[in-house]
Amino acid sequence: MKITKLTTYRLPPRWMFLKIETDEEIVGWGEPVIEGRARTVETAVHELGEYLIGREPSRINDLWQVMYRGGFYRGGPVLMSAIAGIDQALWDIKGKVLNAPVWQLLGGLVRDRIKIYSWVGGDRPADVIAGIESLRKIDFDTFKLNGCEELGIIDDSRKVDAAVNTVAQIREAFGNEIEFGLDFHGRVSAPMAKVMIHELEPYRPLFIEEPVLTEQAEYYPRLAAQTHIPIAAGERMFSRFEFKRILEAGGVSILQPDLSHAGGITECYKIASMAETYDVGLAPHCPLGPIALAACLHIDFVSRNTVFQEQSMGIHYNQGAELLDFVKNKDDFDMTGGYFHPLMKPGLGVEIDEEQVIRRSQSAIDWRNPLWRYADGSVAEW
Ligand SMILES: [Mg+2]
Repeated sequence: MKITKLTTYRLPPRWMFLKIETDEEIVGWGEPVIEGRARTVETAVHELGEYLIGREPSRINDLWQVMYRGGFYRGGPVLMSAIAGIDQALWDIKGKVLNAPVWQLLGGLVRDRIKIYSWVGGDRPADVIAGIESLRKIDFDTFKLNGCEELGIIDDSRKVDAAVNTVAQIREAFGNEIEFGLDFHGRVSAPMAKVMIHELEPYRPLFIEEPVLTEQAEYYPRLAAQTHIPIAAGERMFSRFEFKRILEAGGVSILQPDLSHAGGITECYKIASMAETYDVGLAPHCPLGPIALAACLHIDFVSRNTVFQEQSMGIHYNQGAELLDFVKNKDDFDMTGGYFHPLMKPGLGVEIDEEQVIRRSQSAIDWRNPLWRYADGSVAEW
């Protein structure tokens, strides 16, 4: 079997799908994208495609090394996201050829179901109570929200109080019947992270995510030393070689590699395993589409240290398309009760509605994240 063609489709809300074709009519699907830079990743996918055409799709390990090491320069969001989507599509082909789901090829199930959590509250957390109430109706009990809006390097007590009040209201409304993580989204600087974590401790969030940016990762162990709240990070780390430093430095309790950003299934399976050796949990980052989610689930079902899985149903970014719009086998992604079950179809287990993909890709907009500024006009982290 030989790889014959790579086709990319930029899609709403902010996704990109990749179809890899072979000379034996088996195709694989992947989701290579960096949110807001889809066209850049698209170019990288087609450049890497030069290594793939005419090659055997079954040799994923070799093709991965060729894509990673073959160009001298490596790593980073663009190249690693391109590799990630290609890698997913190659695993999809392998599973279809061998008539087995990817988790089966990785050694089989380590659990029967995986807990999921849901986003509430949007970019500037609002209507959080109503959001949680509506998801409680389908038995979700675990949530995530942004921990604050933009925050200056040193900021005032009103901003801190506003953030803390939102969280206090959640605990007051639901007590211990629900759990929630707080995503600082890289919006918080090291000085204010200390303040915010201290103020939020009484409300016992499940975790604090990206308390500071990855660029300031040396603060993770320092912040962890002053709090009992688990720290989560990893959505802006792109390979084992970055995660190695985080694990060695300590302080992070939950790693969040993104299956569409950190080299795909091949790389993230290894990252998951590295985390297990440090007694660190795994919660794959996934605010993206159904192929990225399926890739995450295959890792979740073979990694004992997975804590829970993020998913994007109803997320504030999903304007113009929802998680399962391009999926034919929607029932396989049933979330009732707040759990996913193993995908049983061969390969990734996602049946793509290709007609819909082609049609909707013709009018896809180029999504960009908002650019935030402080009151004085300087740029704030979003
Ligand atoms: Mg995040």
